[in-house]
Amino acid sequence: MLQARLRHSTTSALTLLIVALATPGALADVTVAKTKATTLLVAELAEDESVEDIERSEPRRDSASEPARPPAPDVPAPVNTEASTIPADKPREIAPNIDLKEVAPLPEPEPALAEDRGIPVAPDAPPAEHVAPEALEPEPAAPVPAESFTLLGKEILPGTATRLAWSPGIQIAGLSQITPVLVVNGVNKGPTLCLTAAVHGDELNGIEIVRRTMYDLNPEKLSGRVIGVPIVNLTGFQQGSRYLPDRRDLNRHFPGSPDGTLADRIAHSLFNNVVRHCNMLVDIHTGSLKRTNLPQLRADMNHPDVAEFTRGFDRMAVVHSSGSPGMLRSAATDAGIRAVTLEAGESLRIQEHQIDAGVNGLNSLMEKHGMISRMFVWGDPEPVYYDSTWIRAQHGGILFSEIKLGATVSEGDILGYVADPITNEQHPIRATADGRVIGMAVDQVVMAGFAAYHIGTEAQVPGE
Ligand SMILES: [Zn+2]
Repeated sequence: MLQARLRHSTTSALTLLIVALATPGALADVTVAKTKATTLLVAELAEDESVEDIERSEPRRDSASEPARPPAPDVPAPVNTEASTIPADKPREIAPNIDLKEVAPLPEPEPALAEDRGIPVAPDAPPAEHVAPEALEPEPAAPVPAESFTLLGKEILPGTATRLAWSPGIQIAGLSQITPVLVVNGVNKGPTLCLTAAVHGDELNGIEIVRRTMYDLNPEKLSGRVIGVPIVNLTGFQQGSRYLPDRRDLNRHFPGSPDGTLADRIAHSLFNNVVRHCNMLVDIHTGSLKRTNLPQLRADMNHPDVAEFTRGFDRMAVVHSSGSPGMLRSAATDAGIRAVTLEAGESLRIQEHQIDAGVNGLNSLMEKHGMISRMFVWGDPEPVYYDSTWIRAQHGGILFSEIKLGATVSEGDILGYVADPITNEQHPIRATADGRVIGMAVDQVVMAGFAAYHIGTEAQVPGE
């Protein structure tokens, strides 16, 4: 049946192809084109499984059966030593103070960053300044004035905001990519929060979440620093693709390596030049192709620091996920940076509700850590913790959903149907547990085994 359908779709695709290429000679090898089209279609369907949505989305391990990862070493609050450690022979290059709300040309990158030239960066970029949780609580005492710090070769004075440029220094098809980095260095001391979006180039909601969050910050009223990279995978973004130009998933290559694959090199450059400067990281994603997610955090709840970190997000579902090797959040956590993935909505779309929820979550986080003070009103409920399972289609066909994202469901409820367009058979997909639909596939052609509905069942708030 599946074969029949695939062949059918291939034929339609082929018809289009023929119309598009109907010049003499273009139809030289129809067989090759047909094989290619089939391979592409199958690959597109198969690829969907290699995504964070599906991987490692498992019930939290019992802490008794599995030793929790050790908490990151308790290092005192960060000391801003960067300003004083700029080599004497190098003139200070102070980043221009810019009102981020104003339209500006692209910033120029430093020709080659020290980190990429293999020069040790230890004094300039302390690995993962770890801030003890107490230090992050808002303090009624007088705030401590911030110091300037150096990022991407530029010194950023306290109480200023600027646009910098990160370039991995790698030639992609003869063009060196320049990726904008927004920085707000608050007038007062505090933690460094990093926001990354579009690590997968087709995930657009995060780009807008970073823009709104950053452009709303007033450096004169900020304690700490916020570093935002709105579009990490710029080539993917330009092509509407999740992947890098070599078809690799950047989010499987962190912390990277300077002499590995293209993905390794880009990951290494971003990790060392930007991410290592952070105390906290929120990596913003959406559902993969044709799947949508309720705004939610993916966090390794077996890690005490990360579990504590999730409490800073207002009205957000939190799903335990230990993460796959090479994910930015896993690499950051391993480097002592508290990190989560924020998932919001669908790829290739701009969704106002999802963006609002993301911005709200980040504002609550900054308020919680004493970085901003806006009399933030916390919602009810605060974060809700979920264990989760995926319900898979048992039959191939066309998926039609009966429920909506965020719906509360009971075991046995019909979530949707898979209809066979040839035989007219309809196969219901039922909820296997009571819970909430925290992620789901949009209506589409599916194969047997396709992960269709992500059901979250409320779990204990960890660490209490
Ligand atoms: Zn993603």
